[in-house]
Amino acid sequence: MTDANKVETRRIVAATLSILIWLAIAGWNVLTQHAFSIPGWVVFYTLAGLLILVERFRIYVASSVSMSLEDIYLIGFAMVYPIGIVVWAGLLLAVISAVRFRRGWFIQIMNALGLIMAVVCAKQLYELLVPVPEHWNVSLIGPFAVFGITFVLVTLAAFAVILVLIDGKDAIAHFKESMSLQVLAVYGIEVLIGLVLAIVLQDAGLSGALLFTALVLLVAWSYRDYFKMAKHFRELAIKDELTGLHNHRYIHSKMDEFIEQKTPFAVLMMDIDHFRHYNEVWGHVRGDDALRTVADLMRQNRLQEERQARFSGEEFMILLPDIDLPQAQLRAEMLRKAIEDTTFPGAERLPGKKMTVSIGVARYPDMADNKQALLTMVDDALYKGKLTGRNKVSLYTSVLDEMKHGLPLGDEGQELIKTIKVFLAILNSKDRYTYAHTERDVVYATGLAERIGLSEERMQFLRFGAFLHDIGKVEVPIEVLTKRGPLTRDEWQVMKSHVEIGENIAKPIPGLGPCLPVIRHHHERFDGTGYPDGLKGEDIPLEARILTVADSFDAMTTSRPYQRKRSLHEAIAELRRCAGTQFDPNLVEPFIEVIEEIGLLTEESAEDLA
Ligand code: GH3
Ligand code: MG
Ligand code: MG
Repeated sequence: MTDANKVETRRIVAATLSILIWLAIAGWNVLTQHAFSIPGWVVFYTLAGLLILVERFRIYVASSVSMSLEDIYLIGFAMVYPIGIVVWAGLLLAVISAVRFRRGWFIQIMNALGLIMAVVCAKQLYELLVPVPEHWNVSLIGPFAVFGITFVLVTLAAFAVILVLIDGKDAIAHFKESMSLQVLAVYGIEVLIGLVLAIVLQDAGLSGALLFTALVLLVAWSYRDYFKMAKHFRELAIKDELTGLHNHRYIHSKMDEFIEQKTPFAVLMMDIDHFRHYNEVWGHVRGDDALRTVADLMRQNRLQEERQARFSGEEFMILLPDIDLPQAQLRAEMLRKAIEDTTFPGAERLPGKKMTVSIGVARYPDMADNKQALLTMVDDALYKGKLTGRNKVSLYTSVLDEMKHGLPLGDEGQELIKTIKVFLAILNSKDRYTYAHTERDVVYATGLAERIGLSEERMQFLRFGAFLHDIGKVEVPIEVLTKRGPLTRDEWQVMKSHVEIGENIAKPIPGLGPCLPVIRHHHERFDGTGYPDGLKGEDIPLEARILTVADSFDAMTTSRPYQRKRSLHEAIAELRRCAGTQFDPNLVEPFIEVIEEIGLLTEESAEDLA
C-alpha cells in the first residue's frame, strides 16, 4: 500500500470511529437521560466540530514556535460551559488524533488526556473562586489568572509524565531541552486568547465562536506560507543543495555545540580518491552524480545519532557523539567498504579501477581539546591515508607524538620536539614530496625491521630516525631540492650536507642519541662509496642499512622532477641489481618479501594515467 493510501485509510477509520463514538455517547445519553440537556448537545457538537476543524491548523508565534488551537478552544469553552461537555469533546479529540497517528497514538492520547486534566483542574479552582457564573468584568482578573496558571502547570506536569513514560531516565534532560521562555510565552498567549474566546462566547454565544474561528483560521492561513518560507530558508542555510546532506556551516555549529556541552565525539573526514581525474575523464556532470551517490550511501549507512555533512567539494564529514575510537574506526571502515563495493559508472578509468575514499578519524576530547586542533588532527590523519596508498581509514598517530611519549624528555626536550615540528612544516611547505616520502619510509623500514627480527627498542629508534632522516633538507634551497636537471658540483655538495645538518638538528634532543647514526649514515653505500663517511659493509649501522633500502625503494617508485618513476617490477629488479654495491645483500630479499606483502604505498598516479 502506498503512503497516500495509508493516510486515506486512516482518515476513513478516524471518521468512522468518531461517528461511532458520537453515536455511542448520544445513545448513552438518551438511555440515561441525565447527561447534558439539548442546548448542551449543541455546544458539544459545535466544540467537537471546531476542534476537528482547527486540529490541523497552528498559529505561529515565532518562525519556529507554534500554538495549538485546541488548547484555546478547550480553555474558552471550559470557562463558559459545564465542564462535562469539554471533557467529552476533549476525549473525542484524543481518539481522532490518535487514529490520525501523527506522532504515534500513545503520545496523542496522553497529550489530550493531559489537556483535559489541565482544563478540569483549572475550572475546579476557578469555580471555587467564582461559585456563581459571572459575566466578564475586571474583578475576574484574579480568578482568571488562577485558571491560567493552573492550566499551564498541569499541562507541564502532564508533559513531564509523558516524557518519563517515553524516555525513562533521559526525561529530565529532554524536559529541560524543550522548555524555553518562548514555549512558556506561547502557553501564556494561549490562555489569553482562550479568555477572549470565553468573552465572545458569553456575549455572542456559539455564533460568536464561529466568527472567532473564521478569524483565527484566516490568520493561520495567511501566515502559513510566510512561515513555510522561513522554514525553507532555515533549511537552505544548513543544507547542501547538490547532495541534500547538511553543509559546512551546520557541521561547524554542531561541533561547537558538542564542545560546549562537553560531549565526547568522533569526527570522520572523508575525501574521494582521485576525484579530479574522474571529473577530467567524465566531466563534472558525472562527477556530481558520483557525489550524490556517495551521499546516498552515507544516508543509507547512517547511524541514529550520526551527523553528516558535505564539508567542501568532494570532502564529507561525519560526527559521532558518545562513541569510542575503535567503534568510530569500525564505522568508518564500514562506510569505506560500502563505497568500494558500489559500482560507479566509468570508475574503471580510475587508478584503482574503482571509486574509493580515504577517511581520517580523530576524537574529541582525548586527541584534541578544541575544534581547530581536532580539525588539524583529522586532516593530518586523512592526509596520511592519502600518502600511504588511499582507500583506507587512518588515525592520526604521529611519530612525533610517539617521541613525546616514548622518550625521557624534560621541558627542554618538549620544546625541541616543537622545533622539529616547525622544521618539518617548513620542509613540507618547501617540498611536499619529502614529507610524504618520510611517512612511507617509516612504514617500509618498520616492515623490514620486523621481518629480520630487530628488537622493539632498536625498531623504535629506527622509526624515529626514519622520520627525521631528511630533516636536514630544511637548509637546502628550494631550487636545489626541486631542480629538474642534474645538480652542479656545488649544488650536490649542499644536497649531501643534509645528513650532517639533520644529525645536528636532532642531537640536542635528549634520548634521541641512538637514532643519530641512522640520520647520518642513510646515504652510505655497502661498497663504501657513499657519504658522508664512506663507511663500508657492516661498519654501517644496521638501522642505517635498513633505511637505505626503504628510502631508495620509495624514491624509485615515486615520480620526482628529475627522475621517471619505475614500476614495481623494475624497482625490485633494481634492488637486486644493486645488492652488494649500494645495498646490504642480506636485506634485499627480506625487503622484497615485505613489499610483496604490504604492496606499494604509492600507486599509479592519476597524471600518469591521463
Ligand atoms: P586525492 O585522491 O588526493 O584526494 O585526489 P583528488 O583528485 O580527489 O584531489 P582533491 O581531493 O584535491 O580533489 C579535488 C577535486 O574534486 C577538484 C574537482 O575536480 C573535484 N570537485 C570538487 N568539488 C566538486 C563538485 O562540486 N563537483 C564535481 N563534479 N567535482 C568536484
Ligand atoms: Mg579533496
Ligand atoms: Mg580527493
